[in-house]
Amino acid sequence: MSLQMKFSKSKRWCCRAAAALCILATGAVTAFAEHASPGPYEILPFDDAYIVEAFTDLLQGSDDIADWTGWTSNTWDTPHAYNDHAATDFSMGTGTPLRAITTGTVIALRTNVQENSHPKDGAPYYGNCVKIKADGKSPRGEDIAVITAHMLPTVQVSVGQRVNVGQLIGYSDNTGNSTSEHCHVESNINPIASTAQQSSSTIRCAFYNAHYKYPIMLSPTAKMRVGNVLRVRNNNTPIRADKYESSTQIGTAQKDQLYFASFPKRGYYRVFIPNSTSYRSGWIRAVDCDDVLLGTVIQPLPDPGDYIHANMLNTRYPMYETASASSNVVGYVNWAGGRFVAVEQAPGDWYKIALPGTGAKWGWVKADANMVVYPELINPTIDLSGADNDQFPMIQNFTHTGPLDYGKPKFDRRNVVSFYPTSPGGDGFALKLSDDGNSGDGENETIRYGRPEYRNYYVQCDVYLDYRPSYLGANGYETYGVFIRDDCFGGWDFYFEGPGNCYAMVYNSKTGELRCGKYVNGSLVTFGSPQTITVDGWNKMRIETQGTTIRYYLNGSLKTTATDTDFISGPCGLGYRSSNRSYPPGRGAYFDNFRADLLPGSSVTD
Ligand SMILES: [Zn+2]
Repeated sequence: MSLQMKFSKSKRWCCRAAAALCILATGAVTAFAEHASPGPYEILPFDDAYIVEAFTDLLQGSDDIADWTGWTSNTWDTPHAYNDHAATDFSMGTGTPLRAITTGTVIALRTNVQENSHPKDGAPYYGNCVKIKADGKSPRGEDIAVITAHMLPTVQVSVGQRVNVGQLIGYSDNTGNSTSEHCHVESNINPIASTAQQSSSTIRCAFYNAHYKYPIMLSPTAKMRVGNVLRVRNNNTPIRADKYESSTQIGTAQKDQLYFASFPKRGYYRVFIPNSTSYRSGWIRAVDCDDVLLGTVIQPLPDPGDYIHANMLNTRYPMYETASASSNVVGYVNWAGGRFVAVEQAPGDWYKIALPGTGAKWGWVKADANMVVYPELINPTIDLSGADNDQFPMIQNFTHTGPLDYGKPKFDRRNVVSFYPTSPGGDGFALKLSDDGNSGDGENETIRYGRPEYRNYYVQCDVYLDYRPSYLGANGYETYGVFIRDDCFGGWDFYFEGPGNCYAMVYNSKTGELRCGKYVNGSLVTFGSPQTITVDGWNKMRIETQGTTIRYYLNGSLKTTATDTDFISGPCGLGYRSSNRSYPPGRGAYFDNFRADLLPGSSVTD
């Protein structure tokens, strides 16, 4: 069941209109601000965005990497972070309005970096940027500043200016050390007022960054969300160490327990768990839970002075059988930074949170000064689907020229254009996907539809196969096609834009090969034999996924059937990748008549 079906549309929270009001009417900043903090939800600091490109590396200065769920690795891709990255990155198109996420004073900025210029052109790492010192203090009472980086030169504030939450501060771009259009949001403890770009010795606190006031953050169009609350559907649901069925089971979730999740990947959510001395978080299948956004979120702060919170707390929080310190201890909250969802609270700062296992289902925790208690989440009156593309059947015919306003793109290089020859039954318009205009190192664009728990369904689209063996020189190529059960990272390669993980049907315009297979960390693994197509024209690609069976069709004919367990559920979509980063003109792929729907006789998540 989709969120959209569960929440009343008539009570829709009109965040889109609020943002528009702010743009159109000067002096309407307070109107935005009223909507910017709708109870326990916080608006992300931009008018639109698509995915989190990277979280902060919580192990600054070491070779290891940890993201905000606390998982560590020495490969950059496994957590959504890369080594020593000091902020959260959100992908978004150039020119996206950026807004202050705090009331405060602009203490530094930079505006002299040319659009789309990079360190190789002499640009400083942060490009154009704005640094705002918050009026409020951190939960520990420190001064805190928020930096927004990689902006266009058209910054809309000046040093010394007061800003309100929601106030326009400038527009996004790709300036500085950036591989593609995105926004870098960083918070600094005890910020240096004189520099827009912090020195490496400054404390950068990931803990407060983009997770500052509220546990759930949304873009105004709700296309982007950070944070989920999940309700478990059945007893004895495994929580695993990693996002695979074969991974070690590290906990057992019980029916109706609530868990806070950071992000979905490969059909799993990463959830924070208490009472483990080895794991701060584990993975639970998206098909085993509902996304509910209910409860009160509590979060222990790191030990004083420990901003990386890589270790267990010096003093753990006991979990009691009842809201009383004289009742039995049934478990412990061991780690800082984790978020836990209380279904009940009792006087004296007691919160009842899920205890994974086969014994007590819940434990009571007493909050102290070192525990952040966020405002209570209520079933939101927000249409979280953002666009009308999360319900079956999903139908897109690309009928108007201009930017595509459906789906969740990885970046913003997708336009509906006039295209000849017309697709079968088409209207002369087609979607063009490309990496045009990206002067960073990025090389792919995808658009996703659907939700992480979607499992038994098909995706289908007409794709114009354009055989161009010499277009990009000896080693260059373009690949494009359809995909399904994406890991929610929306990538089709590995290099810096997120490793692709999904089932895909992919055409290579250089070799003419059409492959059925799966992307595993950005590499295409082929099922069956490739077919070579050297005649240009429209072809209907279709992939069906049902349980562990994956079927690939071309123009209505079954090409390959595979049995595979790698990707159990996830969104579907369209993808484009080019190997060539010199960006010659004429690149791109064309799509029309997109469909995704349930398979007959199947529940989408069974
Ligand atoms: Zn960044």
